[in-house]
Amino acid sequence: MARPASIPPSPAVLSETQTAHCQALAAPLLRWYDGNARTLPWRSEATPYRVLVSEMMLQQTRVEAVLPYFSRFLAALPDFESLAQADEDMLLKLWEGLGYYSRVRSLQKTARIVVSQYGGELPRSYEKLLKLPGLGEYAAGAVGSIAFNLPVPAVDGNVLRVLSRLTASSADIAQPAVRHAFRMLAQRMQPPERAGDFNQALMELGALVCLPVRAPSCTDCPLSGGCAARRLGCAGALPVKAPPKLRRAEEMTVLLVVSGNCVLLRRRPEKGLLAGMWEFPHVPGLLSAPQAEALLAESGARVHSVRSLPDNRHVFSHIEWHMHAFAAETDIFSPPEGCTWSAIGDLFAKRALPGAFQHYAEFLPG
Ligand code: SF4
Repeated sequence: MARPASIPPSPAVLSETQTAHCQALAAPLLRWYDGNARTLPWRSEATPYRVLVSEMMLQQTRVEAVLPYFSRFLAALPDFESLAQADEDMLLKLWEGLGYYSRVRSLQKTARIVVSQYGGELPRSYEKLLKLPGLGEYAAGAVGSIAFNLPVPAVDGNVLRVLSRLTASSADIAQPAVRHAFRMLAQRMQPPERAGDFNQALMELGALVCLPVRAPSCTDCPLSGGCAARRLGCAGALPVKAPPKLRRAEEMTVLLVVSGNCVLLRRRPEKGLLAGMWEFPHVPGLLSAPQAEALLAESGARVHSVRSLPDNRHVFSHIEWHMHAFAAETDIFSPPEGCTWSAIGDLFAKRALPGAFQHYAEFLPG
């Protein structure tokens, strides 16, 4: 991505002067945080379990969206023991709508390790946290620092944006060397006695003040006097991030097969995208109505009607599904391999349906 003209070129490694300058900003940042931090359920009662669940939910998801899920999840599964023993369908149902379902599977694997290897307590070691399923550098740093005040950084997209602006760095934050440099900077800025608060303060500043999409509220910022991007007038152009690779498009035809008050469902494979979740059967490519009817007849269905449903497009990080769909009414027939008939009420009450298929659940009878 081209560097904005007003910003000087930045090496991946930050200078000692930049680092020292940023270190002086830790105190005003913490003062601001003490007076402005949002009251959040995982902050008011920051047990290691609650912090871990919140961090897994917050990956790729906004705080406001997470709040109702967090309360519901904690009410159903209040500790590592209950999470370790939870039934898979219940677990996926609790996560339904949050997306990125591998997070909840990792969370359960972690709970099982915590129960079987650590006596039901999350380990107080960054290195051990890093080995738990689904915890990368960011999440291990966030959980370790917030739950145990371990002096480790937690650098997410919000923090990368704030640090890029504080240093007026035009280095590409998609580059691992640049991310590493900002992790080192965050660690050196962090007062060890308030490691968790400092990490949360940087994230909070990014979420509430140093906003993305060219709109930082610099006049409300406690760090405006020491911010290089503010001084240079280039805050809105930072951070610099190379665009992601183009997504692959996949076309498919979804079959919403209904018999009375039952619908045909299929379980997705145990590994890969949306692993283990339920879906409406679908085939690659765009079928016509007669082709869809012929396919069902080949599977042994007596088809009473086939009608077209609106197209849908669902975007994942690396793939786009272009979904064409038909609703078919049939007699009950022997379900194809991997499929099962489900009462429609059970689908809504007990089975987790990915967002891509929720669109078609609206067309189920009553
Ligand atoms: Fe962000 Fe503006 Fe604060 Fe700099 S002064 S950290 S650009 S909000």
